[in-house]
Amino acid sequence: MSKTFAINAGSSSLKFQLYQMPEEEVIAKGLVERIGIENSIFKIEYGDDQEFEMTEDIEDHGRAVEILFEKLQEFNIVEDMKEIEGVGHRVVAGGEAFKESTVVTDEVIAKVDELSEFAPLHNPAEAAVMRVFQEELPHATMVAVFDTSFHTSMPEVNYMYSLPYEYYEEYGARKYGAHGTSHQFVSQRAAELAGKPIEDLKIITCHLGNGGSITAVQGGKSVDTSMGFTPLAGITMGTRTGDLDVSLVPFLMDKLNISDVNEMVNIFNKKSGLLGISGVSSDMRDVESAAEAGNHRAQLAIDIFVNRVQKYIGQYIAVMNGVDIIVFTAGIGENSATTRAAVLEGLTWFGIEVDAERNDTRKEAQISSDESKVLVYNIPTNEEVAIAREVERLK
Ligand code: ADP
Repeated sequence: MSKTFAINAGSSSLKFQLYQMPEEEVIAKGLVERIGIENSIFKIEYGDDQEFEMTEDIEDHGRAVEILFEKLQEFNIVEDMKEIEGVGHRVVAGGEAFKESTVVTDEVIAKVDELSEFAPLHNPAEAAVMRVFQEELPHATMVAVFDTSFHTSMPEVNYMYSLPYEYYEEYGARKYGAHGTSHQFVSQRAAELAGKPIEDLKIITCHLGNGGSITAVQGGKSVDTSMGFTPLAGITMGTRTGDLDVSLVPFLMDKLNISDVNEMVNIFNKKSGLLGISGVSSDMRDVESAAEAGNHRAQLAIDIFVNRVQKYIGQYIAVMNGVDIIVFTAGIGENSATTRAAVLEGLTWFGIEVDAERNDTRKEAQISSDESKVLVYNIPTNEEVAIAREVERLK
């Protein structure tokens, strides 16, 4: 019985799914939150709707993994830890070094740590968690799956900023993108649904979750993506600004009497986007309810969100000189039929036509009409299963 973990570590969290492979059956999943903060929470779901939750101070990721292993055995989810033959780790920043998923070695962990300046909240935690798993499960194949790998195929005309060239050469200042695992997963699935080789297709994938990004996928390769040097750039997100004129940085620092630029960047990351515009919430469901109740700023937040998604789709039609398929995925993309409809209704000039009845879904479906010149799909993403598959492929 072979089991594989898909692990997603953040600065204060650890999400996990344990799969029976190769069946891809989820046998347990859960998360640890508030690691390193008091009253940490450990949650696990397993078996037939069984659940366990506890609150306890968990000082670091090492202790979180220890508790996870204890509970797996206590609840008889795993009899012998040797059954876990694979562990896939999501890594946010792979820079230019990791063009594909990579079997974890000491050197790989050191390199992930070294790339921390590109993802200060994530990479150090991910490297630490890899070390813990390496010690606890020395027999298992460990694979690092990078959010950025899929985008390493971008041509330089799309990843370079219009900055002095030396900043790229000396410091790696360029666009790296994110959500690569999801964009790759849904674009491959879209080609399968269309019954055409991905090599022949131009696809635009819209990953609209709390964080959101849009990618132009040509011939199965990412050629451009909306996130930038970090996941702050691109479309309006739950709490992030998306694209911004950088001249606002000194202007607002002066007005707000902020002397530390990191404080300003923190506002762009955590207090902006849907939350900042609406003043209601970062969660699209709350923003939609408030807008329905007549809240102008909530409606404006939705309108700006939709507008930015439309603009990126328009850009990427230009980047690829065409589009065959548009895909919606992630929390908002999969679940908000009204957002999808609003985005698509502004793109009819391209021959894109949404079918209202088909669009009334949260499942995998074609939502464009039979007459539409462009196929539009709703495709639930599954980054965890994509990670588990990478482990299987490299085992
Ligand atoms: P994360 O980036 O944290 O993985 P998700 O992909 O889970 O985020 O997406 C979260 C977003 O999806 C939230 O804004 C949430 O409001 C939105 N969402 C989830 N369900 C719905 C729904 N039924 N209608 C509108 N938005 C939804």
